[in-house]
This record gives sequence, C-alpha cells and structure tokens, in this order.
Amino acid sequence: MMICSSTRIFIILFAIFGLIAFPASSARAAWKTTKINEITYVPLPDCAAAFSMAAAKPRKDKRELAFAGEFHQLVVKTGTREAIIDGVRHWFSFPVVTASGKAFISLADINATLGPAMRPGSIRQISKVKTIVLDPGHGGHDRGGRSAYGYEKDYTLDVVNRVRKILEKKKVKVVQSRLSDFFVDLSERPAMTSNYKDPIFVSIHFNSAGWKPSANGIEVYALPPLGLPTTGKAPDPILDRRKCDGNAMEPASFVLANTMHHTLLGKTGGFDRGVKRARYAVLRHCDVPSILIECAFLTNPQEGKNIHSTAWREKFSQSVAEGILAYMALANEKQLPPRAWNYKRDSTDEFVWEE
Ligand SMILES: [Zn+2]
Repeated sequence: MMICSSTRIFIILFAIFGLIAFPASSARAAWKTTKINEITYVPLPDCAAAFSMAAAKPRKDKRELAFAGEFHQLVVKTGTREAIIDGVRHWFSFPVVTASGKAFISLADINATLGPAMRPGSIRQISKVKTIVLDPGHGGHDRGGRSAYGYEKDYTLDVVNRVRKILEKKKVKVVQSRLSDFFVDLSERPAMTSNYKDPIFVSIHFNSAGWKPSANGIEVYALPPLGLPTTGKAPDPILDRRKCDGNAMEPASFVLANTMHHTLLGKTGGFDRGVKRARYAVLRHCDVPSILIECAFLTNPQEGKNIHSTAWREKFSQSVAEGILAYMALANEKQLPPRAWNYKRDSTDEFVWEE
C-alpha cells in the first residue's frame, strides 16, 4: 500500500512516542465487543489491526495465532492466557478464546496489558522519577529461599548494593529499605517511598521451586488491575476486588515491569518466564510505581551456581540498573524504552503452559 510521506512520518512518530492514546482508551466505542462467559471480548483480528498488525505466517500448532506489523508482533495460544507481545512473554487476565471459528481477546487485556506493552508512551499517569527505592527481599530471621551455596536474603542485599552503586555513578538518587541483615516489615518497605520525591519502588528476590529443579529464568511482577485475577490463578470474585494502595498506579507499574523485563532478557539472555501479576504485600502497599523481580532460581543447579558468582551478580545488577534507567528515560524524557530485540535477543517463540 502506498502512503504519502507526511502520513508515514506521522505513523512513525505515533509508533515512537505513542502520541495518541491507544485505541482501547481513545475509541472504546469503536470496538465491536461481544460477551463470552460474561467477559467482554473483541475480535482478535480487529485488535491486531488497531495496533497496525495483520495475520502473520501460520504456526505449526493451529491453536497459536500470530500477527505482525512494521513495529509490533503478537503471538497468542487460544484457550490460554499466555501471549508473546513484541517478542516477550506476558500473562493475560483471561484466555484468548474461539467462538464460531473466530478468535477473541478480552477488552480488559487490551486495556491493561497489550496496549500499555505496545504503546508505553501513551500511559498518561507515568510521571517524573527522581528517587529509586530498592528493596532487598527478606532479611534477618527471614532468610528467604536457599541454594546449595547460600541464602536469598544475602544475595538480594548484594544485588541491591551493586544496583545502587551503578545508579549513583549516574547521579541517580537511590535509597534502600534495608542496608544490612535485618528484617523490615513488609508494609514498612513501600511506606518508605513517602519520604522521597517522585519515587519508584523495585523489590529484588530470587525464585525457588524445590519440587522442580529444572525451573529457571526471569519473572517480573506488577500488581493486577483491580477486579482482575493474578497469574496462574482463576478469577476470584472476592480477592480480585479487594482494594489496595497499589491499584491507583497499576498502569505505570505494568509499564515499569514490561520495561524491566525487556531489558533483563535482552541483557542477560535468561529464560523468559514472563511479565506476571501478583498481589505481593510490597506491591499492594505501594502507592507509587512498583515491581518485584525474581532474578533467577536458587533451586536450579546452574542458576544456583550463577547466583553465587560475583561476576554474574554484577552483570545482573547492571541489567537491573539499565532497566531502571530505561523507565526513567521514558518518564523524564518521553524516550521509548528498548525492546529485548534491540539487544539482539531472539523473540520468545515457545509456549510454556506454566504459570
Ligand atoms: Zn523472596
């Protein structure tokens, strides 16, 4: 299709800066919606077209549907909540479904996940960031998980100390929820943010799955939007609707999680477990943009070894710092954050069925 050069420039600016809110918020009435299982759904091809994508090469597994355009890619697997958005795994609130031979995506997922992931520049609540509050998970009597070599609480503090040093060299103000090996109450950690100007909150943890030593890779968590379920759990009419401080900043927290995940995957090459949603206490009690990173698995033999290596922790810390700087550049300078493929990482291609 031929398009005039001014239209093309506009489209490029649109894609780069997300100058106009994505269709979910600017033209909701334009979506052709239908209720399936009491959830509002949109035909998937309509959604893809709104993000300038068309059907891509068919996948081997017929349940998988791929869409691509000049700037974006989407692969979903019908009947699941798993989605690969711009090359990186995400977990939707509701499954992509088929009805009468057509595929549908929930409007909630367009608004809360697909839209903000593809057009982070359109999220108006993202405001200036001046302070980074880093939270080393666990501490004191709470040792967290353990590997063959050490405890989670010690590794989280070491990574946070490293991230702080890297950011301070770039003249970024950083504070920590704990400076040494003691326990800080889970609600006090995010409460610290109220003492500082324009903060964001980043909690550092390491994962454990003693029952499955092969489990490995990186997860980044944000709070689910009010009324929507957490990753891996069925919708819960009571828990999903329980209000908390974190609800107000959920869109910005999601963009922070998405930005961090792309950077960590691109820079470290770790396995992509996806951007997930959970109601961790530190996220629930936080009224500024907040995320929790599960850096790697203490219980995986190779990753347990990696985590114990100073060189690995330094490299991972540099990646966390770069993810924070990428979000600050978006918040402070309207500069779109890099995607994993900007670091020459191949798109995630396999569905894992593991939430
Ligand atoms: Zn932990």
